[in-house]
Amino acid sequence: MEIFRTVTELVHYALERGLIEKEDRIYCTNRLLEMLRLGNYTETEIPSPARELEELLREIDDYAYENGIIPENTVTYRDLFDTDVMGIFVDRPSNIQAKFRDLYSISPKNATDWFYRLACDSDYIRTYRIKKDVKWVTDSEYGKIDITINLSKPEKDPKDIAAAKLVKASGYPKCALCRENEGYAGSVSSAARQNIRVFSFDMAGTEWFLQYSPYVYYNEHCIAVNRSHVPMKIDRSTFEKLLCFIEKFPHYFIGSNADLPIVGGSILSHDHMQGGRYTFAMERAPIEKPLTFRGYEGVTAGIVKWPMSAIRISGKSKDELVSLADKILRTWRGYSDPDAFIFAETDGEPHNTITPIARRRGDDFELDLVLRNNITTEEHPLGVFHPHKELHNIKKENIGLIEVMGLAVLPSRLKSEIAYMKAAILDHVDFNSIENIKKHRDWFETFKDKYDFTEENTESIIMEEIGKTFVRVLEDAGVYKCTPAGRAAFLRFTDKVNSD
Ligand SMILES: [Zn+2]
Repeated sequence: MEIFRTVTELVHYALERGLIEKEDRIYCTNRLLEMLRLGNYTETEIPSPARELEELLREIDDYAYENGIIPENTVTYRDLFDTDVMGIFVDRPSNIQAKFRDLYSISPKNATDWFYRLACDSDYIRTYRIKKDVKWVTDSEYGKIDITINLSKPEKDPKDIAAAKLVKASGYPKCALCRENEGYAGSVSSAARQNIRVFSFDMAGTEWFLQYSPYVYYNEHCIAVNRSHVPMKIDRSTFEKLLCFIEKFPHYFIGSNADLPIVGGSILSHDHMQGGRYTFAMERAPIEKPLTFRGYEGVTAGIVKWPMSAIRISGKSKDELVSLADKILRTWRGYSDPDAFIFAETDGEPHNTITPIARRRGDDFELDLVLRNNITTEEHPLGVFHPHKELHNIKKENIGLIEVMGLAVLPSRLKSEIAYMKAAILDHVDFNSIENIKKHRDWFETFKDKYDFTEENTESIIMEEIGKTFVRVLEDAGVYKCTPAGRAAFLRFTDKVNSD
């Protein structure tokens, strides 16, 4: 039978990747036969070269649907099933934690290299989907900016969306980040996680754990998660934790989303941070204006040459950095400057917060403190320091940590819209006559006369203009503009920190 061949190959894949040992082969085969409701089996030859995991799982899912093991042939049910299948091959959490600790004692990088490979080999990170993301780099006055159109999150089938609405939230796990997801079967409304494993560790006196993002927006995109389901909160202890993390994992950076809506991330309900092994444009950006903070003369500080408003502080002493970062945060929380349209609060609602990022620079610890404000007005109902309306055709969503650092995560719709725009431009068709690119018409008008469009260059021109637009998105999100008046206002704030 065809399915026997797939079973043999899948078990062979797990052996080859070191997920299981040869003593586990029969046991895992039997577990797999049980899931596929097969009472009979004959081992087959392994083809050479071995087939890709994606193809094996596709056959497993097809078989499951054709034999009534899964109720619908939708991506949601297929994902639920093949995650359960892959869970067979992933070792128990206690063994994974022990192996991580052993490798960590050799070096932190040794441990994370292995842990990241486990996340990929176990199919928790579906690498064949990540490959679909469209990525390019745009030059700007702030350096090379990364642009990604995210195509790795599969579109939900309307059938599954309808089914998910009927599911009453169980409240277990409390959210997608909770520790209780480890080994969880999932449902039509939440992802299966039989194949995820996490590593628990101490973060400045509290229990946290490390896992990877299944969407990998950049290399080794990891998430550090608070063991407790408590809301995001930026305070002194956040800086302590960030620096604690880069002390434990010096080859990773780590940052936190801000703790207010509009300027925060998509999950504010569970305290977490995101890091990884990747150098963003922001890290490469130099200091444009050195600063000195009274009482912290040992700390190197300055305003970063960056479209968002960032103060960089660095030095050898973690305690000094935490203390200064806390001082800057407390001053900013209560700071208003009507001339620069900065208001600490309106009608009792606080607006000021910080997106902090930590990294090692040689032996030094370094913190970038990005000043954020989430005020809205009638003219800018989504936020004054948020992409403005004329840029919403490219980016309307919140500017969170990853974008702050110079990586645009753009909506998947843009991929097909680029193709439509290219066709319309070459055929001289008005964007207004094509429904899904109407929204780009005014934007296109701003640059169309600069270029001679050809079959060869049109797509790259559109992508280049998208990149430039993202830089303007970041400028909109900066509370102090990169203008003489904006910089003067920025210095009024740093003077206030010094006089507090
Ligand atoms: Zn949670």
